[in-house]
Amino acid sequence: MKVDLLIHNCGQLLTLASAGPKIGPALRDVGLVPHGAIAIREGRIVLVGSEAEVRQQASAQVEIDAQGRVVMPGFVDPHNHLVFAGDRVEEFEQRLGGASYQEIAARGGGILSSVRATRAASFQDLVAQSRARLDRMLAQGTTTAEAKTGYGLSLPDELRLLQAIVELGRSHPIDLVPTFLGAHAIPPEYVAQAEEYVDLVVEEMLPAVRDRRRELNATPFCDVFCDEGAFNAAQARRILSAAQRLGLGIKIHAEEFARTGGARVAAELGATSADHLIQTDSGDWAALAAVGVMAVLLPGTPFGLGLSKYAPAREMIAAGVSIALGTDLNPGTCYCESMPTIIALASRTMRLAPAEAISAATLNAAHAIGRAHEVGSLEVGKRADVLVLDSDDYRDLAYRFGGNLVARVIKDGREVASNSVVLAAKVRPGAH
Ligand SMILES: [Zn+2]
Repeated sequence: MKVDLLIHNCGQLLTLASAGPKIGPALRDVGLVPHGAIAIREGRIVLVGSEAEVRQQASAQVEIDAQGRVVMPGFVDPHNHLVFAGDRVEEFEQRLGGASYQEIAARGGGILSSVRATRAASFQDLVAQSRARLDRMLAQGTTTAEAKTGYGLSLPDELRLLQAIVELGRSHPIDLVPTFLGAHAIPPEYVAQAEEYVDLVVEEMLPAVRDRRRELNATPFCDVFCDEGAFNAAQARRILSAAQRLGLGIKIHAEEFARTGGARVAAELGATSADHLIQTDSGDWAALAAVGVMAVLLPGTPFGLGLSKYAPAREMIAAGVSIALGTDLNPGTCYCESMPTIIALASRTMRLAPAEAISAATLNAAHAIGRAHEVGSLEVGKRADVLVLDSDDYRDLAYRFGGNLVARVIKDGREVASNSVVLAAKVRPGAH
């Protein structure tokens, strides 16, 4: 068969092929094919396997020689707060001086200071600042990412953030999966009136968000920040149930700082994912495993805050919970755009083997945002989102850190970044 592109001489080809999300011992199976090759036509994978097999069946116009190095799927970042203006470097320095995240939030800093900066920024500026982050994500191998709202906290401001996600998704090679996080914090206009703000989210914001499906080219997820100082479990249940009734997928920030019941709400409602889960116990793990809720673990956040407690990943894996990894990129607790950095942190702080961390950052991460039918593994029919590493051993992704091992990024069959330089704009405008 004639194909557009053949990636060959892959010393270690990691396919991550799997019928469903990887659970338990399957996390250690990255589908390694030695001396592999991939054939690509019209942006999709048509053949994948040993080079001898693939060459027998395909002849290509263009070839990429991987020079014996690691070739693997692009990373999927299933949890990030991409769209914000400004930064919180002042608060970072205050925390180093001893102030806690909660103390800073209580005096008007924290999420609310990013809300002020984001509301004040022009649309163009907001998009430009976010696009620069996407470029850095792409250069480090992320080819699909979630993107949350949540720094608007009023109907017009939240819709403006969704519009920014539309604009970025149209113009940047990274495919974006939108998540509405209107319940990120209680806005200053509703201090001591949390229930009234929940009414606004349920009655006005959610229907308006649902009506943006066409512009977004996707049905958005709805997420709630359920924790002390944010929304309680009853409020989260109310918002997420309403979102489900409107046909939206649901996610939750659960048990990050305190155990307030968010993980059980996720299990009860059958959420696509529950994220953070630092303060969870064996009952929570059993509940999540029973329903197949993906646990999105975010080790960049405790690291970013200088805390020592991380999600109990080993216990969760043993309990049959399926885990994914994400950056949690945000200006307050974790200004990190790099999935390889998260893999390096996950292996040290949560004792994930390199193969487990890679499975969690690709295939399972795609499941966490409902995109595993399209991305997350190198399988026939999926998008040709492929990385060539500057290494011949995939374990280097966890072992070596602080640089960029991602040498080439291929998105939808076209090279879009090379040696940390972004080469191309969107491959297929508007397509999802
Ligand atoms: Zn988050």
